[in-house]
Amino acid sequence: MLPVLPDRPLRRSDVPTEQWNDWRWQLRHMLRSAEDFSQIVPLSDDEQAGLERTQDLFRTGATPYYASLMDASRSDCPIRRQALPSLSELSFREQELRDPLGEDTHSPVPSIFHKYPDRCLLYVVDRCAIYCRHCNRRRIVGGDQPPKRDEIDDALAYIASQPRIRDVLISGGDPLLLSTRRLDEVLGRLRAIPHVEIIRIGSRVPVVLPMRIDEKLCQMLAKHHPVFVNTHFNHPREITEESQLACERLVNHGIPVGNQAVLLRGINSSVRTLRALMRALIRMRVRPYYLFQGDTVLGTDHLRTSVESAIELMDGLRGWMSGMAMPQLVIDAPGGGGKIPIGPEYLKELGDSEVTLRNYRGLTVRYPQPREKDPHVSYDEVFFAGVPDDDDREGGV
Ligand SMILES: *Cc1c(COP(=O)(O)O)cnc(C)c1O
Repeated sequence: MLPVLPDRPLRRSDVPTEQWNDWRWQLRHMLRSAEDFSQIVPLSDDEQAGLERTQDLFRTGATPYYASLMDASRSDCPIRRQALPSLSELSFREQELRDPLGEDTHSPVPSIFHKYPDRCLLYVVDRCAIYCRHCNRRRIVGGDQPPKRDEIDDALAYIASQPRIRDVLISGGDPLLLSTRRLDEVLGRLRAIPHVEIIRIGSRVPVVLPMRIDEKLCQMLAKHHPVFVNTHFNHPREITEESQLACERLVNHGIPVGNQAVLLRGINSSVRTLRALMRALIRMRVRPYYLFQGDTVLGTDHLRTSVESAIELMDGLRGWMSGMAMPQLVIDAPGGGGKIPIGPEYLKELGDSEVTLRNYRGLTVRYPQPREKDPHVSYDEVFFAGVPDDDDREGGV
């Protein structure tokens, strides 16, 4: 007898390979409801209630591919905890914000967030291939209010009008959900702006929809070099043959791939997990970039670690693990002050003639200061003769 398939087969074993590997099929079949997810794992009471009771508040969704990584036997599975809402999302705290990073107050035109002098964020799409439970842009992602074409035109005109902007970070939502042709158009128009030096794409697609990273996409991206991709792996369980292939394909096209992880309480907040994650990333040539202390987003208090434990975790990385695998721990300032590095204190005393430090094993080290202080680089006058200083360029914030 043939097995009886559900109306909407979502399990990998029930889906023909050709469909499974089609990224548009994956997006059309995103799991959203308790009914969908119960095809994959037996839901815990908290997951069941969370899925039912947060529906009107926060977007939920994951690709069948990402759901296939869920551990059916454990509700503390890191994949389940990032994709499936908990009832805890309903107990807000006063300090939690819809817009924790003050993006809406740093938006000179729609689709632009501009906080730093020489770079800005361009918001091109409001959809994702997963709606992360810790999302700091959950107020706007989800598919109700996509940025309009003329808004993106205006945003590109804003960038063109700001000569200080050298670095444009394309984000969303997930920019790699745009069609290759539409993304090509946006990148081409950015490239045509002479002062835009580098373009970065922030995307979780390598983690949750790796089949999207095909040859055609990579060849298109490579036309617009220098292009960088920053992705978002949070747990070594997310590193699979497919996601490795996606990252390596990007790198093989000359696109440096970085990783911006978020520290998530009880999900990746152990030294062992973080070391395994960072080491697995560099093995596939993905360079750890940031490790974020959780933002104060509405409904995410249960996912944040204390700052003390974040710092202690970093102490378990530096020195114990290749420096190539070290991320920088940052707090993105509530209200919009930007990213602020935090971490263990290695500098114990700063004297005029000597500084006292401790190394990663706790050993005290003394470092003698030079006799003379000379912050003035006289060759600058030659090297930069006639070149205006950055601060003389117009625009910026
Ligand atoms: C994070 C962010 C950037 C980039 O910051 P880097 O430290 O250069 O990676 C730029 N603009 C906005 C609005 C950001 O949130």
